[in-house]
Amino acid sequence: MVGTEQGLTDARLAGVERQYWIDRNVALQDAEAWLAEFGDGEHGATARRLQVVVAAVRIRRGDPSQSAVDVQQILSWAEQHGELALQSRCHDVLGSVFEMVGDRALALEHAVAANDLLEESEVPLMRAAARKCLADALGSAGSLDEARRRYDDALRLVIDDPETIIRYNILNNLAYTEYLAHNQVEALAAVEQLIGLSEVGDRQIGMYALDTVARVYLTAGRLDEAEAKLLPAMDPAVGNLHPDGSAVALVTLAEIYRTQGNLARAQTVIDRCRELSQRFGLTRWSTEAAREQAEIHAANGDFRAAFEAYRHFHEQSEALGASENESRGRILEAMFQTAESRRESERYRELAERDPLTGLHNRRFVDEHLSAALMRLREGGPSVAIAMVDLDHFKRINDTLSHEVGDTVLREVGSILIAAAASAADGIAARLGGEEFLLIMPGIDATEAHRRFEAVCRSIADHDWSPITGALPVTASLGIALAPADGQQSSDLLRAADVRLYVAKRDGRNRVVHAAIVSTSTPEAELLEAR
Ligand code: GH3
Ligand code: MG
Ligand code: MG
Repeated sequence: MVGTEQGLTDARLAGVERQYWIDRNVALQDAEAWLAEFGDGEHGATARRLQVVVAAVRIRRGDPSQSAVDVQQILSWAEQHGELALQSRCHDVLGSVFEMVGDRALALEHAVAANDLLEESEVPLMRAAARKCLADALGSAGSLDEARRRYDDALRLVIDDPETIIRYNILNNLAYTEYLAHNQVEALAAVEQLIGLSEVGDRQIGMYALDTVARVYLTAGRLDEAEAKLLPAMDPAVGNLHPDGSAVALVTLAEIYRTQGNLARAQTVIDRCRELSQRFGLTRWSTEAAREQAEIHAANGDFRAAFEAYRHFHEQSEALGASENESRGRILEAMFQTAESRRESERYRELAERDPLTGLHNRRFVDEHLSAALMRLREGGPSVAIAMVDLDHFKRINDTLSHEVGDTVLREVGSILIAAAASAADGIAARLGGEEFLLIMPGIDATEAHRRFEAVCRSIADHDWSPITGALPVTASLGIALAPADGQQSSDLLRAADVRLYVAKRDGRNRVVHAAIVSTSTPEAELLEAR
């Protein structure tokens, strides 16, 4: 029952994420509708995957700063909860944001992480999206060969998926990268493939991709073909539906007519472009239109008008540059502030989970950490060994010497335990309170636990305490427990360790009382035990 429900949720989620590559407006609606079903309050990875879809659409619509900050926060949640798929999607989105704001190093870093964190079980579409993100970042960073390889990988993953637009996006970006690098042959090859796919598929090529195709044709001198691709942009209905893409296309179309010497048509097209850009507030394209206007005047031999148009272009372009820089700055600042406050809160969290006297983890940390380790065990993770460590006759040290000396002993024992914990992967040393400590070592079996905890007991007893306590010895008693042998809940484990600690005290202190060793021990271990 639960399995089926999970299956349904997964399939629905995959559907929304796929929709992003089919129709972003629908993806946004679907994600928001589902989030509304979730309602307020704290939710898990599914809700956050939907939030990432929402943020990704908003970012593409030119509203990046708040969405980028949201995605950063989701990423940090995903890291804390070990949600790899969610982490990968966050990195993918952040990669494109940094690409947009021109920070190539961070764009690349996120794009690499997006790919590293993807599991092989991911659907091809998601793997292709991550590869494409990496290819974009590599291309902007100037690694053209590396970028090509990733675009190829990405395309291969989705080549048989005609429903989404990702194939066009991949080929468009590849063609544009080649175009910017003046690789005409490669750019043409990508463009031909793009057109070939669109001719056998149901989906039309978007305006941006058509513009890329036309630009590549233009540089190859194939002006008629270039013109044919962009004519739809003159249709007012298309302009109203896709103002941004149409404005881009109209600038290129005007340039095509000017190159053909058809200056009257070029003028008509650029007038249309200017009108569209003004109506929809497309500053970037009205600036590009001003530049093309200057070229048209110059081609007409009207150098006075050309000069005026250039000046106009220059002013607009400076203003645009300033406002783009400003918004870039705002986005970067917002993102770095989040990173900053995240580091701060991690530091406070760290402080709240440490014992001030010894610097060891405290009981609060142990509660969380041990439960987490046992949860991993129940899900097939490594076994967990714990040792409860209590100093022997500690009261005597306080009473005969001083409380300060007692504190020094506790700190010194703390160092010994930290070293012991550090010898095991993911080992933890904590102070539970007073002169009572806990060691947690995941991934070791009964035999290994026996060996290590005996060594801990000896290293406390054998430590040279004379500079601190003079003639008074310092020893400890240890009670050991193992999960799953002694139970799989923190309380079971702590109780078992506590009982054995009591036995160790009763039997004379300075000793370790273990769980019964199960017969998995090797001959060497048995020998060791016999000693
Ligand atoms: P046992 O071998 O049975 O464990 O004997 P013990 O004397 O170690 O045990 P008991 O529980 O009687 O005494 C523990 C003492 O630890 C009492 C308390 O004053 C001392 N203690 C607890 N916290 C601190 C601390 O932070 N610093 C110092 N110096 N002493 C502490
Ligand atoms: Mg004690
Ligand atoms: Mg005690």
